[in-house]
Amino acid sequence: MSENGVKIVEIPSTVTVRDLASMIDVSPIDVIKQLMANGVMANINQQIDFDTAAIVIAEFGFEAEHLAAAEDELEEAGELPLWRQLIGDEDPKTLKDRPPVVTVLGHVDHGKTTLLDAIRLTNVAEGEAGGITQRISAYQVEHNERSITFLDTPGHAAFTAMRARGAQGADIAVLVVAADDGVMPQTREALAHVQAARVPIIVALNKIDRPNSNPDKVKQELSDIGLIPDDWEGDTMVVPVSAKEKEGLEDLLEAIILVADSTEIKANPSGKVIGTVIEAELDKAKGVVATFLVQNGTLRVGDAILVGTSCGKIRAMFDFQGEPIKVARPSKPVSVMGLSDVPPAGELFTVVESEREARNIAEKRKIEQRERSRGTSKAQSLEQLFAAYKAGEVKELRLVIKADVQGSLEPIVNSLKELSVGEIKVNILHAGTGNISENDVMLAAASQGIVIGFNVTADQVAKNCADVEDVDIRVYDIIYRLTEDIELALKGMLEPETRRVVLGKARVREVFRIPKLGNIAGCVVTEGEILRNARMLVLREDEELFNGPISSLKHEKDDVREIRNGFECGIGLKGFEAFKEGDILECYTEETVPIT
Ligand code: GDP
Repeated sequence: MSENGVKIVEIPSTVTVRDLASMIDVSPIDVIKQLMANGVMANINQQIDFDTAAIVIAEFGFEAEHLAAAEDELEEAGELPLWRQLIGDEDPKTLKDRPPVVTVLGHVDHGKTTLLDAIRLTNVAEGEAGGITQRISAYQVEHNERSITFLDTPGHAAFTAMRARGAQGADIAVLVVAADDGVMPQTREALAHVQAARVPIIVALNKIDRPNSNPDKVKQELSDIGLIPDDWEGDTMVVPVSAKEKEGLEDLLEAIILVADSTEIKANPSGKVIGTVIEAELDKAKGVVATFLVQNGTLRVGDAILVGTSCGKIRAMFDFQGEPIKVARPSKPVSVMGLSDVPPAGELFTVVESEREARNIAEKRKIEQRERSRGTSKAQSLEQLFAAYKAGEVKELRLVIKADVQGSLEPIVNSLKELSVGEIKVNILHAGTGNISENDVMLAAASQGIVIGFNVTADQVAKNCADVEDVDIRVYDIIYRLTEDIELALKGMLEPETRRVVLGKARVREVFRIPKLGNIAGCVVTEGEILRNARMLVLREDEELFNGPISSLKHEKDDVREIRNGFECGIGLKGFEAFKEGDILECYTEETVPIT
């Protein structure tokens, strides 16, 4: 209660009508009526911004307090970008403004590449070395005597790869949305990535030259996902542009400067040198060539560099136009030569005293890495996340949820949200429909979360990615089991996890009809072996059609217990007959993974 007796409710920057209603314990219908009285038409699942929520709840006798994620709170939760944590000991007096670093994201074909090209072409004067330079994946433009750095790798894969390694490449995200197509699945996905990184967003409403563009409709769709345009009294800048006609580009740059000015974008140019690898490759003639983004301090030719497990001394440095340069200050993208190995994108680099020191540390890290990879434990299994959570290392359980249809997604999300009681918090990073993709896994990896699937499968790329990034993927087919598992995990009472172990695969070549037995798949074993007592998945173009026991396994006319790679066999399944030529049958058993 505040002094004057008005009850105070903490409200985040955006909140759904449903959640707002439950916060003040009134019916959502009453909230919707109040919104209507204030000229806002909203449905129960719609996101409204803090200011609107504040006005509405005032009518019910509540005062809203902005639940802003203060930087020190974030720091406490270990959520500040790693490089910011590293420079945390810089004296605030030494910090100076630096150019904002901007990343461009959005749905495929909405014009990310065209926009980045248009900005580069209209704002970059050709350097002397112009034309012969190899393109580096970042550039800088000037706008009203202010510099802006653009990361020229559109799409959230690169952005998330960086975050997965603890780095944060960008200060501002430009979300490109085509005015003739609107908010699409990858728009939502990109938004989830950016929000998880707590990076401010500007929307570039692209393709406004198209006759069928419909900015108002798109603005409504943006509002529905919580991006309320500023001309609709929200706080998201929505800038109409045409990348093709090069219209609105200056307005977009202006918006970037405005957002930059309202955010602390600073570094100490004389401090410790830290930055991120944007990309790196091995060039036959030049050796390792890496694009670095300097984030603190000033990088100089001759500096001894340490990047993860690689090291070296900067032999030469070039700006994005290929001009040789001797020093690079914060936010400057540079191409450097002189590293020993190719570092992964997203890795942090630092400058150390000498090349010798860099080599020693790199060697030590290599040994540690080998030892770590010998251990088999999953860094982010649900069990271990819980242990970390209990130990106070993780403040919430972060989930990426994928379900087959919207109809099952909503009840799952709602019941998981209900599990957030008291100290225990479930943070849903992203919820969407469709199979589990590499991006889902990367989002979970970047945020130390896990991926939960309901009636969906993970494609092979996603599975590989989960192995590399050590992300736990859990798939369920009963909602109750799913929520029960999460609840048990939160209570630290989770049963040992069972994991599928693939024993072998077979490809269906033809289908036979056998009286009494039904349809039998004539297969060739393409990997491992098929065991009569194991279970089988039927996969068609990566989609899981069936999961169940084997009813018969024959080699020629004989019943067999197992059949190995390269051999032909006939397979019957209990409960599935709709085989088609080309289907993949995946034979697996379940293995119990002990809780460590
Ligand atoms: P990305 O997949 O988001 O990088 O999209 P692209 O930049 O490759 O653009 C996809 C298509 O949209 C290309 O054919 C572009 O020429 C076209 N396009 C991009 N921006 C505009 C625009 O402002 N107006 C029109 N009419 N077409 C555009």
